[in-house]
Amino acid sequence: MKYTFIQFKEQYPNDDACLESIKQRRFGEGSACPSCGVVPAKFHRITGRRAYACQDCGHHVYPCAGTIFEHSSTPLTLWFHAMYLMTSTRNGVSAKELQRQLGVTYKCAWRIGHQLRILMAARDAANNPTPREGHFEIDETYVGGKVKGKGRRFVKNKAVVMGIVQRGGALTGKVVRNNKAETLVPVVMDTIEPGSIVNTDELSSYKPLESLGYHHVALNHSQEQWALGPHHTNRIEGFWSHLKRGISSTHVAVSKKHLQKYVDEFAFRYNNRKEPAVMFERMLAQVSNPTST
Ligand SMILES: [Zn+2]
Repeated sequence: MKYTFIQFKEQYPNDDACLESIKQRRFGEGSACPSCGVVPAKFHRITGRRAYACQDCGHHVYPCAGTIFEHSSTPLTLWFHAMYLMTSTRNGVSAKELQRQLGVTYKCAWRIGHQLRILMAARDAANNPTPREGHFEIDETYVGGKVKGKGRRFVKNKAVVMGIVQRGGALTGKVVRNNKAETLVPVVMDTIEPGSIVNTDELSSYKPLESLGYHHVALNHSQEQWALGPHHTNRIEGFWSHLKRGISSTHVAVSKKHLQKYVDEFAFRYNNRKEPAVMFERMLAQVSNPTST
């Protein structure tokens, strides 16, 4: 089910509607007043401020306190619009595009984009506790930099991104120092319970996995071996091509320093791809959680 821009604007037509939705999440139906403790507390809006007052004791509550909106003078409607664009587009939006659509400065647009990427990462991490059991595909890819030498392993100045996707479950991507066993194996151990099935290509860094208790099936891609029954790495490879096309079409280039945030953003959309209508709501729920960042 699609969440259209018209539906979005009907739901969040102005700053008051945005603030009310954040308040509902933090001080919604049936919650107690943090000051006098009356249950259920009834709050009325204080005109001209991002605040409400308890009807019983007059205590003020600030729904934006502790969230990314707290110290931002950018109207909530613009933040919400940016969240809509981030969750409704296949490749996300560049800072340039946010600047154009929101009518804010480039610096402001850039900051909004990065704040939202941090939230997407936090939501995914909270939703997908590790380590998990199951059937996983593991792979690495090489992003940016200039190609030196020949072959995909000879690209020293490229950033290495390691990806793990669970069949029927979540995908996580991590920018790592290199593709050596000492780097990749600990990430596997943090993410996947021993006893699980893991599929990789023939990269020797994955060899220790079998002795660590994983059921490791490696596909020899250099010998044109792409699948052995249910064992393959097609899903994670599909994600890599989407990530790379997405970054080059939307952002042109991404520095190593910020690459992790873009990987998290694309992983968030991948993990929520079957429910585009609730993707926005999930992001908003994370925004409204002041301990999220
Ligand atoms: Zn009260």
